[in-house]
Amino acid sequence: MIIDGKQIAKQLRISIADQVAMLDRKPGLAVILVGDDPASAVYVRNKDNACKEVGFYSEKINKPEDITQAELLAEIERLNKDDKIDGILVQLPLPSHIDANQVVETINPNKDVDGFHSENIGKLMQNKPYLRPCTPKGVMTMLATTGVDLVGKNCVVVGASNIVGRPMAMELLNARATVTICNSKTTDLSAKIRQADVLVVAVGIPKLIQGDWIKAGAIIIDVGINRLDDGSLVGDVDFALAKDKAAWITPVPGGVGPMTIATLLENTLTAYNTIEEK
Ligand code: NAP
Repeated sequence: MIIDGKQIAKQLRISIADQVAMLDRKPGLAVILVGDDPASAVYVRNKDNACKEVGFYSEKINKPEDITQAELLAEIERLNKDDKIDGILVQLPLPSHIDANQVVETINPNKDVDGFHSENIGKLMQNKPYLRPCTPKGVMTMLATTGVDLVGKNCVVVGASNIVGRPMAMELLNARATVTICNSKTTDLSAKIRQADVLVVAVGIPKLIQGDWIKAGAIIIDVGINRLDDGSLVGDVDFALAKDKAAWITPVPGGVGPMTIATLLENTLTAYNTIEEK
């Protein structure tokens, strides 16, 4: 069966909009875009539109490519103090002269709705999660819709980036699964995939995962987004073959992508509720 990320994300947005409608002050999200990378501009626009749809206050802040580190940090400090803003997101990647790590660490951890600040990553590591990285958290929401209990399942995560693979592995471990994390140096990847009851792939290589590697009845979550020469979007898994072996599989597009933005809204509402409670 297909795990319909578009539909699950829509339900999540409806639930968030219902909650926002009851609030006196609107939750606020600020998204900073540095430079004019077209893909980043599309992501930022989508986030801004999603905010408007659920009734959030949103600020889209465009900064020139040649902004200095100090100017960018000052902007974040301003937003840290702004009472209208509950969540701050700096669209990655940043230009090479900017220290992205310092930028993320300057965001108030209580407004870090991307969940990338070391304090939030540390909480996830300790199984005391607060603001969790959006893509892996969105994947957990999708897995929950299958009704499959993850406890004791063999889960394989392919890809070990800070924004997807590593926090994904922690999410699955926190759900008491047995987790294998693979990277570009992993030997005999296919043997590991064949053991996977749950497979999450976040690499960025079309058809890296071949259909005949999939364990019968597995759940396949394809995080990869790759644009082919003909303009079409595909994931990292050979969907046409894998879908016949898997019990559940996400499509690309319409799988994990929509969940990431809906989860960003969910995190912003969490940050808002914490700020309001204080
Ligand atoms: P990344 O930072 O480039 O990391 C890629 C990871 O894949 C690295 O850990 C790398 O290993 C590993 N890898 C590379 N080649 C491999 C191979 N042959 N076998 C096994 N592992 C291999 O990428 P990312 O930011 O995590 O993104 C991954 C993909 O997900 C991209 O297609 C991206 O567009 C997509 N994405 C989608 C969403 C969404 O919302 N749907 C969100 C974020 C990202 P090393 O650690 O050894 O280098």
